[in-house]
Amino acid sequence: MEETPTAVLPPETSGRDFIRQIIDGDQESDKHAGRVATRFPPEPNGYLHIGHAKSICLNFGVAAEYQGTCNLRFDDTNPLKEDVEYVESIQEDVHWLGFDWADRMYYASDYFEKLYEFAEQLIKDGKAYVCDLSAEEVREYRGTLTEPGKDSPYRQRSVEENLDLFRRMRGGEFPDGSRTLRARIDMASPNINLRDPALYRIRKATHHRTGDRWCLYPMYDYAHALSDWIERITHSLCTLEFEDHRPLYDWCLEALNLPDRPRQIEFARLNLTYTLLSKRKLLHLVTGKYVSGWDDPRMPTIAGLRRRGYTPEAIREFCDRIGLAKRDSVVDVALLEHCLREDLNRRAPRVMAVLDPVKVVLTNYPEGQVEEFDAVNNPEDPSHGSRKVPFSRELYIERDDFREIPPPKYHRLSPGQEVRLRWAYLVRLDEIVKDENGTVTELRCTYDPATRGGDAPDGRKVKSTIHWVSASHSLPAEVRLYDRLFSSPDPDDVPEGKDFLSNLNPESLVVSTTCRVEPGLSQAKALDFFQFERLGYFVADPDSTPERLIFNRSVALRDSWAKIEKKTRGGKP
Ligand code: ATP
Ligand code: MG
Repeated sequence: MEETPTAVLPPETSGRDFIRQIIDGDQESDKHAGRVATRFPPEPNGYLHIGHAKSICLNFGVAAEYQGTCNLRFDDTNPLKEDVEYVESIQEDVHWLGFDWADRMYYASDYFEKLYEFAEQLIKDGKAYVCDLSAEEVREYRGTLTEPGKDSPYRQRSVEENLDLFRRMRGGEFPDGSRTLRARIDMASPNINLRDPALYRIRKATHHRTGDRWCLYPMYDYAHALSDWIERITHSLCTLEFEDHRPLYDWCLEALNLPDRPRQIEFARLNLTYTLLSKRKLLHLVTGKYVSGWDDPRMPTIAGLRRRGYTPEAIREFCDRIGLAKRDSVVDVALLEHCLREDLNRRAPRVMAVLDPVKVVLTNYPEGQVEEFDAVNNPEDPSHGSRKVPFSRELYIERDDFREIPPPKYHRLSPGQEVRLRWAYLVRLDEIVKDENGTVTELRCTYDPATRGGDAPDGRKVKSTIHWVSASHSLPAEVRLYDRLFSSPDPDDVPEGKDFLSNLNPESLVVSTTCRVEPGLSQAKALDFFQFERLGYFVADPDSTPERLIFNRSVALRDSWAKIEKKTRGGKP
């Protein structure tokens, strides 16, 4: 029987974000002959982070939805900070996220010659001039938000003199900082970006691709607009800080009278609580060895998130859910963690591991006997099947699953109390063995052979099920318990005289070497993910080997986002 809808569904387009609405409009008016071409333009001066993921999902996502294309373009116009290590990591990370640029990988540096020709064109048209003011003087002449700037004394140079100087700048005749090529726009513009901005500067530095061929490098705004045009980009999506640069973006294209111009559209960048997304600060964390590298599992980099156990699916889902806005905001990092839990809850096999073991001896279980129990791999999805887990007379359980003197309503193991060992038997604690310091070393229990599989035939109730591993079959593992890198929701919020480092969480990594895992985990390969039952989601570290197992905790099981959502929605789904 068909259900009657209780509410009229909104038309499909009303849920569309403002960027897709703009593109829809362009499609209708047949702008760019219906083509949609976007680009993702990282500067190879650091590893990609979760903020970039938002931009990647948007640019590649939009291209796919409109049967368009998305280019990967390295915006490598600043030779001082860029490096091939970053170029390579960026490609790996975009691919890992699930996107592909086919044969459209470009470098802004490939356009240096073309960009130079454009600049000569601007000079010939009287739209750019060589300026000899120092950086300091340029600042003085620029004016302020409330006062107009002053014309540079070099603004009226002749085309011939400008061309000659510009060519000699290229030839390396002049030292760094001595001259710039500036756009001749308007020193009185209310938009400071239009007060004769620099288009080129001299920088005698080796570029990671062009070597020493150039000592003249284009400025970002100029290079970006023209690179977009060269690649025939239709929609140039970028973050809000470029909004005030848009008039300059447009000026570059108009001044050169270029046809079929791309349109820049800005969206809000992603900010996350407890997280820093400034490449400069992330680099500082790496070079200062506050983390183990760009892929430290506490880093918000794609490489770090991957090693932490994040899946591309979870990250894409997160980017979908945060949507697009025109105003900056801060997203709760709990939403990101929630997206990972949701994904892993469906897909991660569940296994048993004991983080802080205490030995259990089943006094009535035959010495030397081993049984194998069928353990379901993922109750959320029967297609995951089941596995065999060995059981024997000596086991480990979590020390925390036992109390000598149980608090009220404590249902786990305590003297005389019966608990269920997951998939196995009901057991009762008879006797506690301690060493000379009073530390519990052994819990002597009896098991009920009639409860094989975990159910009592007489129907008696047991309130608690705990996890375990067989002492002799289980394997030791190193477990890295990661937590948020910063202890403050806003890591940049610091008292006078301090910096973000003072907000580092001293407990963001706790290494435990006491862990015992079920034997099947010896086969775990790098980045295989698991739910350690009752403990959280864990991932095999890339450094893990069968001889030395290493698991990273991705997230604990407790979901603070689900709680937030429930509260704000009044418990309604
Ligand atoms: P930089 O300070 O080095 O310029 P950046 O974070 O802007 O750093 P880019 O390599 O220039 O880094 O960024 C590539 C693309 O990713 C740009 O289009 C940028 O707008 C986008 N991007 C960067 N950070 C975020 C973020 N937090 N949220 C959304 N998009 C972002
Ligand atoms: Mg940038």
